[in-house]
Amino acid sequence: MDIVLDRKELIKYPFLKESQQLARRHVESLEEFLDSGPGAAALERAQERTSAAIAFKKEFGDENTQNLKPEIEIASYALARMLVSCVGDRSLIDRLARYEAERASFFLAAEELEIRRFVAWSVGIDTRAVVMPVTRYVELVPHLRDKRWRLVNRDVRQGGVNLEASEIDELIRERIRVIIADQLPLRVPPAICERFQPITTGIAALLQQQALEQFGEVREEAFPPCISALIQAITTGMNLTHMGRFAITAFLHTVGMNVAQIADVFARAPDFDPDMTMYQVEHISGRGGTEYTPPSCATMRTFGLCVNRDKDCERVNHPLSYYRFKKNVKKKRS
Ligand code: SF4
Repeated sequence: MDIVLDRKELIKYPFLKESQQLARRHVESLEEFLDSGPGAAALERAQERTSAAIAFKKEFGDENTQNLKPEIEIASYALARMLVSCVGDRSLIDRLARYEAERASFFLAAEELEIRRFVAWSVGIDTRAVVMPVTRYVELVPHLRDKRWRLVNRDVRQGGVNLEASEIDELIRERIRVIIADQLPLRVPPAICERFQPITTGIAALLQQQALEQFGEVREEAFPPCISALIQAITTGMNLTHMGRFAITAFLHTVGMNVAQIADVFARAPDFDPDMTMYQVEHISGRGGTEYTPPSCATMRTFGLCVNRDKDCERVNHPLSYYRFKKNVKKKRS
């Protein structure tokens, strides 16, 4: 497409190759850039981006209070991707991808038609068509949870899915999110991650704090029966399957336990092996980019891990929903 975005427009869409080219023109060596004043400003802004992603911030447009040059602002996007890659927590990576996609979508909504078309086209979506080929549609929607996206709920004619204009906007945002998430984690040289350590330690702490705030203090008495059964199995020295270990680790991590606290749960086993446990827990908790989202009830059932169901299980389709529900009930009673 024959459109050239100016530098101020590129700030809004830092994932575009044109934006990356602009930033690259001003950064020859990463080390030298980080040692420079603009590099320090970009890193500070990258930290802000990451914190906003952790906080699920949804207001945009007021971020560039330091009036950074466009290339520095775009470099901060690249540095934010490096920061989350160094932290290595998949949930953090997903949050950054979601934040950047929401941010781009916010700006796109106010954009002239031509620019909107160009950005959408850059991520593989043609905004001129209100009918999307089914094959393309099914590639775009697998992570959209709302039932209206399911193909059976769509108006499909002659191999095409009819879309409302607002739905095309949602698909553009989702496409941007997937593109960003799929590119991460980056392979950041260990020396650079070490350099970022004071910042990444703060980011990891913020992430943990946010999880604790979201789920509150961890209360084992509100755990769903399947998770309690897994803990019981560990305590009695039973060997868990890989899926069992994954399910409990991902669950405990999501409700706000850190790696050491999760390892403490595994330490209840009579044959506890600290090194092996730490390795597995760190891996499943997301270091190295492993997906950490705990399995849903349907997956738990498939793997024979849905046990001791009780009446509250009827209300939920995810162990995390059970936990949230039970905690709220207990809070109201106390
Ligand atoms: S229904 Fe869901 S929450 Fe309840 S025991 Fe089964 S997997 Fe756990």
